[in-house]
Amino acid sequence: MEIWNPWHGCHKISEGCLNCYMFRRDAMYDKDSDIVTKTSTFDASVKRSRDGSYKMQESGTVYACMTSDFFIEEADEYALLLQTDRCKG
Ligand code: SF4
Repeated sequence: MEIWNPWHGCHKISEGCLNCYMFRRDAMYDKDSDIVTKTSTFDASVKRSRDGSYKMQESGTVYACMTSDFFIEEADEYALLLQTDRCKG
């Protein structure tokens, strides 16, 4: 199992967000959870080893975007960058 959080931050949009783990955790560090930013592991899904294989295993489970909404509007440009990198081959 791997964890990949390409961006961080979100907006509470429904009752289901009331007890959001990410907002609660950020509050402990005085971090504004409403600001969406790329993380240091943003490009982990497209990084390759010397032999050309992807460092992130293609088999197995990857828990993605646990500190945001993968489809949040502010991250659209980031998602586009990832698609471009992955399509380069
Ligand atoms: S991360 Fe999920 S639960 Fe938290 S605010 Fe965003 S959509 Fe809601």
